[in-house]
Amino acid sequence: MATILIIEDEPAMQLGLRDNLELENYTVHIASDGEAGLAHLKTGTYDLALLDVMLPKLSGFDVCKMARSAGIRTPIILLTARGEEIDKVVGLELGADDYITKPFSIRELLARVKAILRRNQPSVAQTASLVTIGRLVIDFDAFQAEENALEIKLSHKEFEVLAYLVKNKNQIVSRNDLLENVWGYGESITTRTVDNFIARLRQKIEFTPNHPRIILTAHGSGYKLVL
Ligand code: CA
Repeated sequence: MATILIIEDEPAMQLGLRDNLELENYTVHIASDGEAGLAHLKTGTYDLALLDVMLPKLSGFDVCKMARSAGIRTPIILLTARGEEIDKVVGLELGADDYITKPFSIRELLARVKAILRRNQPSVAQTASLVTIGRLVIDFDAFQAEENALEIKLSHKEFEVLAYLVKNKNQIVSRNDLLENVWGYGESITTRTVDNFIARLRQKIEFTPNHPRIILTAHGSGYKLVL
């Protein structure tokens, strides 16, 4: 699961955010001022940072700007106070990925967190953007797939599913795993939808979809991509 850094000075807010994120199984680290936050961010080990704007020592804007100029690409969601409308624009210009205005509902925050983590998900793309699966060559960075130099049209979600399966290649990935990591909890789809989705994906990438060689079914448990 993802590791989230909270850079926030108000104890009540720290606690509330931490409890709710931990309930969702995220690992949470807290920094209580801008300097500490920047130092944490610079380790580059976080999947996401929630960054308050009004902070002691360094403002959230400064932290954001300095992290970006240090080459840190960790997604950042700014926590702005009501009435800081202009700040949001400034924040996004400084390289934040999103912002949320206090007071916010935990539900809304979790939705943003999941959306950003999902957007940044195909971590396969960061390590090996070009993957060869059988006769398929998939470029996860460019969202392109081809077979014998002919383009195969895959949807964004199909790339995401493939990226996740490639990341966990030669291991059984459960339907729930896929649901959780590719679709996210919030979306109203079922394990049945996953099966239908995989069946359609096989039509596109398998030589004989009824006898798959790439995405195997692990009966009763899920799927396994063989590489
Ligand atoms: Ca504050």
